[in-house]
Amino acid sequence: MSTGFQGKFHRQNVLQRFAKELVRRSRSHCELCDKSGVRLEVFEVPPLEEEPYVEGCVFICEECLKQIENPKKMIHSHWRCLNNAIYSEVPAVQAISFRMLRRLIIKGEHWAKELLENAYLDPEVEEWANQAE
Ligand SMILES: [Zn+2]
Repeated sequence: MSTGFQGKFHRQNVLQRFAKELVRRSRSHCELCDKSGVRLEVFEVPPLEEEPYVEGCVFICEECLKQIENPKKMIHSHWRCLNNAIYSEVPAVQAISFRMLRRLIIKGEHWAKELLENAYLDPEVEEWANQAE
């Protein structure tokens, strides 16, 4: 994977091209917390493939993004939205939801544990979710 400036620049360009399709998929609502009327960002669900692909991305608000990228800033109550997101039809949304639930479980959130136990995830999605923290 290219990590130089050009590689990064190229990646950002590709991601921006996904935005149009993601607007349609998400109907301009954050794919995690369902917020609308806010700026949404293309976020690649790790681990990153060599070339970005739209099914590997989620379209989310800055609040969700901030908390995903900085676990110390996680506001537990915000993630009640996972009650819906974990049942998304989009595998990438399920995978990132699964990871956030796991983080909440570690923090002692019982509701997150129950939700994860009751959610049905495709084995492939679960495997994807397990590939990163
Ligand atoms: Zn959000």
